[in-house]
Amino acid sequence: MRPLCFFGRRSAFSNAISPAFDLFNTFVMNLKPQLMKFGGTSVEDADAINRVSQIVYSRRDSLPIVVVSAMSKVTDALLFCAQRSAEGELEAARDVIEEHFLRHTTVAQDLLSTSERASFESLVEDARANVAIISRAIREKRQPFALLQDALASIGETLSASLLAAVLREKGLPARFVDARQFIVTDDAWGRAAPLMKETEQKTRALIQPLLEASELPVMGGFIASTESGETTTLGRGGSDFTAAIVGASLHAQEIQIWTDVPGVMTADPRIVRSARTIPRLSYAEASELAYFGAKVLHPKTILPAVERSIPVRICDSRNLEAQGTVVYFDAGRTPRTVKAIAHKMGVHILSVTSARMLGAYGFLRAIFDVFERHKTIVDVVTTSEVSVSISLEDTDALDSIVRDLQEVGEVKVERGRAIICVVGEGLRNTSGIAGRLFNTIRDINVLLISQGASSINLTFVIEEERAAEAVQRLHAAFFEQAAEETLSHAGGH
Ligand code: ADP
Ligand code: ASP
Ligand code: MG
Repeated sequence: MRPLCFFGRRSAFSNAISPAFDLFNTFVMNLKPQLMKFGGTSVEDADAINRVSQIVYSRRDSLPIVVVSAMSKVTDALLFCAQRSAEGELEAARDVIEEHFLRHTTVAQDLLSTSERASFESLVEDARANVAIISRAIREKRQPFALLQDALASIGETLSASLLAAVLREKGLPARFVDARQFIVTDDAWGRAAPLMKETEQKTRALIQPLLEASELPVMGGFIASTESGETTTLGRGGSDFTAAIVGASLHAQEIQIWTDVPGVMTADPRIVRSARTIPRLSYAEASELAYFGAKVLHPKTILPAVERSIPVRICDSRNLEAQGTVVYFDAGRTPRTVKAIAHKMGVHILSVTSARMLGAYGFLRAIFDVFERHKTIVDVVTTSEVSVSISLEDTDALDSIVRDLQEVGEVKVERGRAIICVVGEGLRNTSGIAGRLFNTIRDINVLLISQGASSINLTFVIEEERAAEAVQRLHAAFFEQAAEETLSHAGGH
């Protein structure tokens, strides 16, 4: 199961302060940087990168540290390239990525002066050569696929960060590319590596602090890291947000800013609900639940490092500086409607384990969760009855082995193509009528699992995937659009 987070004012971590830590703390208080993370669409072409450089320029006095994702679609292409290489299709693998190399050089032509352009183009040449080397290594199975795949995936962030650093220098900023693999140290869970925070903090401070003291502006690729022995790892899809949080926490940043393509965290995914609106304030707990249950705008692991150092996280729109954005901090307060947002996550499986042995016996749940632990698989929603347990999971890499092992415990049923919907808001558990209104709104849609109470701020349920968009739209209309009309008619009606 996902780790339990502690969202109180002080965490166990911040209570364990050593004298050395205190000294550092006092020192950095005067040098509190601002983490600015730009996502893939924010750097997708010359116009977008130009906008980003203006944003960073306008905040040059706030000690910015820039974290950037690969240009949009580049990581997908690199992963596809790894797949084609494994199938022995090296030429096809090269073609997949070539058009993206050209996107980078086009931006360089548009935005860089001759000398900056020449050195960036030689980086692109190196990247081409690297793709060829790694593709061959994948085809010849010289090292585990997952390890080589991470090496390939890291090329996207390395290039976008080098390019952005060069563009910032053209603007007159003292930008310097830094390779996050030098200081973000992880375990070797390729594709979703977990940072070793102690080593990472020490290295991040040792490398980045002197740059800040020398008034340089560090620019790094998010998402990428390395093991203690120096092999490249990645932090999981969408992991650049997490990089910003790790670096921000290590350096006691004043703020972690996530610059993206929407005007903040919204009441629902704006791709599904056109009338979704920005939520000005969210608590860490609310943001964490929303991210965990599918609000892609924020990687779920971003919140914990921020909470531990009491750093506000701000979500901003890189295409609309006027937009107010969302601030995530400790207590965001309740809203009159209690429900603040609806998140959803597609592609979920439900596993049900049934056994008469469970009746009146103990140890049954442990036996089930041992299986998930052994296969390092995170589960989302869990419900139990007298003789059965139903569990939803998104990560199905180890599904076959999990099912095999669970069959030792009881009869196993797998349902595919499900979606989790999660309604979030501080005070949800203590407000009557919300569940009634919710399930009444979607009363013709079959609800397969329901969970409320584990956290006081969410109500989560599972339905069939093909009804998910419709369910989110109807719930949004009921909780936000109708509620707004009611508020308006109350305000003006009497
Ligand atoms: P980036 O490339 O900047 O990291 P992402 O694609 O990872 O951006 O995240 C932004 C996207 O998250 C938006 O385009 C939007 O479709 C999606 N999204 C899902 N749920 C929400 C939500 N509640 N609020 C805002 N955006 C959301
Ligand atoms: N480029 C990586 C991805 O597409 C990381 C990120 O964008 O945050 O998943
Ligand atoms: Mg993202």
